[in-house]
Amino acid sequence: MTLQTRFLDLKARLAEIHDLTRVSSLLGWDQAVTMPPGGAAVRAEQMATVGRIAHERLTSPDIGRLLDGLAGYEASLPYESDEASLIRVTRYDYERARQVPTELRTEMTRVASLSRHAWASARASSDFGAFLPFLQQTIDLKKRYVDCFEPAAEPYDVLLDEFERGLPTSEVRAIFTQLKQAIVPLIAAVADRAEAVDDRCLYGHFPIPQQREFCLSVLRRFGYTDDGWRFDPTAHPFATNMGLGDIRLTTRYYEDNIAVSVFGSMHECGHGLYEAGIAPSLERTPLCRGTSLGIHESQSRLWENLVGRSRAAWTCFLPELKAAFPGQLDSVDLETFYRAINKVKPGLIRVEADELTYGLQVVLRFELEQEMLSGAFPLAELPDAWNARMKSYLGVDVPDVASGVLQDVHWSLGYVGYFPTYVLGSIASAQIWDKALAAMPDLSAQIARGEFSPLREWLRQVLHRHGRKFTPKETLQKVTGSDTFDVGPYVGYLTKKYSEIYELR
Ligand code: ZN
Repeated sequence: MTLQTRFLDLKARLAEIHDLTRVSSLLGWDQAVTMPPGGAAVRAEQMATVGRIAHERLTSPDIGRLLDGLAGYEASLPYESDEASLIRVTRYDYERARQVPTELRTEMTRVASLSRHAWASARASSDFGAFLPFLQQTIDLKKRYVDCFEPAAEPYDVLLDEFERGLPTSEVRAIFTQLKQAIVPLIAAVADRAEAVDDRCLYGHFPIPQQREFCLSVLRRFGYTDDGWRFDPTAHPFATNMGLGDIRLTTRYYEDNIAVSVFGSMHECGHGLYEAGIAPSLERTPLCRGTSLGIHESQSRLWENLVGRSRAAWTCFLPELKAAFPGQLDSVDLETFYRAINKVKPGLIRVEADELTYGLQVVLRFELEQEMLSGAFPLAELPDAWNARMKSYLGVDVPDVASGVLQDVHWSLGYVGYFPTYVLGSIASAQIWDKALAAMPDLSAQIARGEFSPLREWLRQVLHRHGRKFTPKETLQKVTGSDTFDVGPYVGYLTKKYSEIYELR
């Protein structure tokens, strides 16, 4: 077999595996968006079957032989080439997947699908007991998964690595400690001046059809196209894709609050833009997705906050929002609206948290995940542990599990180790923003004029197009010149923004 034939053989096999993962995504999207509840049990089997076939194909000895045979070819190619990157990343995936028995991988997929369904109804009835057996199963499976690998410094390292390759728990802990030291005093200073910002304009009666239309008008300016994207309601917003020309965004609406759907949509759009911006040459390969969840969240958090919660963006959007809800916001000026969308209000719900308290929402989940894994308390006591930490970190009393420990979908899906990436992404978003400003000194003025394509195209050029060719650290290095999540720019951004809004000295 020539090297070229061997490479094409590998690529064809990977394309089929990629097809199977996209089929899984479609089944998952359908389950969260359109499937009637009666489909849950069979859907879990379908997802398990597709997942099993994909895992069997990836871990097949044929893949190992092809990779071995291509080692010389890889070495002869530039590191940055699509071909060398495909071989390199596949070797990483192959070696990792080989550690996990197909039976375990299949069971994890099956339980995740059943558990997602159980979570949705437990959350709707605010009944932790109904979800507990599924959580127990999930954590037990996670422990078995951790045991598949060489012992790491901490068991949590193995789980974190799934979402943020190459970043150990100890490093995340150090980053979070630094962040806490900076934001806790800032939150306290803002709390003393809580009355300085009035956000009543965000509450009222906002009919959902008009909310959807307004959100769509924002998304279209960001880069959403009607022939390449979809936008649907769901219980817990997410973004996914079935291909570079088929990006799916979801959001949720509250009729009495305009902020949740708008900022949620902007967030998911940031994920969508990352995936839509991947080079078409990477389609149907394992390189055709974001390099890590932390880098992914840097994009969602950038569009949601650095762009979405800026004065510049609302210079453009506020007149359109007023037109969408005639008579309701007539007396609201730009400054009042800008302050309202940035009001700091320690609250119950992570995805609705302001930028300042958001970090603490994540820190408490990061800590609880490690404790669940180590068995620090019986899982039945998780709501108590959750509520106690909410009280201590945010001063908030949790009235029920639906707005407490059951609010997020992640643990039902087996996504343990995912939450830290939200804060890592927020940190990276500020590092990337600094670079964007240096490259485009006119950026704020462009945004105020409703011109978002220069930013989007810059991001595509420096980041999106690479997909998963490079590790998260390599990718961060390419964009920012540093391969570390540096808290400095993020803390600087938060301090400047909130000192101004709350007129702190
Ligand atoms: Zn996100």
